[in-house]
Amino acid sequence: MSVGPPEPAGLGEHHLALRERARAVARSVAPYAAEADAAVALHAKVREALAGSGLCDLVVPAEFGGAADRLDPLAIAVVREAFMYESAHLDSMFGMQGVGSYPIAVGGTPPVQRHWLPRVRALTAVAALALTEPDVGSDLRAVSTTVEAVGGDLRLRGRKSFITNAGAADFYSVLAREGEGWSMVLVPADSPGLAVTCGAT
Ligand SMILES: Cc1cc2nc3c(=O)[nH]c(=O)nc-3n(C[C@H](O)[C@H](O)[C@H](O)COP(=O)(O)OP(=O)(O)OC[C@H]3O[C@@H](n4cnc5c(N)ncnc54)[C@H](O)[C@@H]3O)c2cc1C
Repeated sequence: MSVGPPEPAGLGEHHLALRERARAVARSVAPYAAEADAAVALHAKVREALAGSGLCDLVVPAEFGGAADRLDPLAIAVVREAFMYESAHLDSMFGMQGVGSYPIAVGGTPPVQRHWLPRVRALTAVAALALTEPDVGSDLRAVSTTVEAVGGDLRLRGRKSFITNAGAADFYSVLAREGEGWSMVLVPADSPGLAVTCGAT
């Protein structure tokens, strides 16, 4: 008779194989890892290695070229662990493709999903998530950025800070207050009025 909590089952074959793939990618960027972490821009060779690995398939639903109908959080965690062991930049790039595009995957209109998600998967579009503001961190209900419909457009007003990939991203998923509630708003990087600054806010 056994006592105490059950032993963890461990990773199955599928996840072990993913881990090996991710470790191989991580090892391939190890020579540039320190340089990539020190740089303020996206590191081209790290980006190329990640794009070529096919592992961004994990952050996009199968309908748009991804690996599975529903995203597999364990698979994503396994890959991130392997990446971050060698390169924070590689892990960040992979992680941001996921969290930056997830609002599109779950709430985007079909044309928006068809436009952006295959590009996220191929890493031809870089994603960013913009939640934090100069005066708002953990307590996201306090965001002061607003969005309102004006004519046929959406007008977003506010400032975000600490945004990973800011300036390099092709789109931003932005949290904003809309009336009494909150919305995630897709902001392509070439949207009129969008400005990215570096330094103190
Ligand atoms: C490297 C880096 C990259 C980032 N990238 C992004 C990004 O891409 N997009 C984005 O939107 N943001 C990004 N952020 C911002 C990050 O998400 C915020 O720093 C985070 O939300 C915490 O906010 P804060 O720093 O203002 O801390 P605060 O919210 O002020 O919290 C300060 C401390 O108080 C604790 N605390 C807060 N509230 C409570 C509570 N109710 N009970 C108990 N303890 C509490 C916190 O745990 C923390 O220890 C990034 C930050 C860093 C450092």
